[in-house]
Amino acid sequence: ASFGFRAVPETERQGLVNKVFASVAGRYDLMNDLMSGGLHRLWKRELITMLNAPRGTTSFKLLDVAGGTGDISIRYAEDSGPNATAVICDISPEMLEVGRRRIADAGLQNRIQCVEGNAEELPFESSSFDAYTIAFGIRNVTHIDKALAEAYRVLKPGGRFLCLEFSECRVPVLDRLYDFHSFEIIPRLGQLTAGDAESYRYLVESIRRFPTQEKFAELVRGAGFSRVNYRNLTGGIAAIHGGWKI
Ligand code: SAM
Repeated sequence: ASFGFRAVPETERQGLVNKVFASVAGRYDLMNDLMSGGLHRLWKRELITMLNAPRGTTSFKLLDVAGGTGDISIRYAEDSGPNATAVICDISPEMLEVGRRRIADAGLQNRIQCVEGNAEELPFESSSFDAYTIAFGIRNVTHIDKALAEAYRVLKPGGRFLCLEFSECRVPVLDRLYDFHSFEIIPRLGQLTAGDAESYRYLVESIRRFPTQEKFAELVRGAGFSRVNYRNLTGGIAAIHGGWKI
């Protein structure tokens, strides 16, 4: 469906995304709760459950790309054993700064490291992580195929890929409510909390442009992953795609 927003040229997309996150970093966690009505917490919890990191003393290395303020990594570290570590890789120094503070507050600085970097060109060696997660990050990346190829590259053989992202809601009534929320509520909340409705309209549009569950599963398979599947959350408003590097 077309909602009449102007298309953002590919070359300008990452710059716009970076501006949005630089300006909201300090309010990001609060806005997440407001805009999703707290649902993002349940969805992230589901991702951590699927990740099923070792609770004992086995070592395990997670790479959380577009990890922002650290939600996934902090929950994962709290849920797993002492040798389960994480690296957050995010392109925004401002988001990482908030993340570092939260990690220190949680006393997890020995287990979670923050690295600035682009999902399309990860600053890590090949075959070096047991798992790769990306939550609400991949739709902000300009070339999804490059990000998926990099995910495949940095995972060890046997490594797990998990992606949590907004997806296509096909549940009658809920889809209309969701449209209203996306196009009427979110830009207003963006205006109120960050004084920047236009950026939020862009983010909403990026959600709508993102491939459907089936199409995204095809992209994940295309990057080389095996046993690719997905699980819808809240009627498909979000979905978790999973795959394995065999
Ligand atoms: N994963 C966190 C969460 O679920 O709360 C943060 C998600 S936030 C919506 C999107 C994050 O993606 C931002 O922190 C942003 O800086 C990051 N990002 C955008 N483009 C990126 C890129 N090309 N490479 C790495 N991170 C990127």
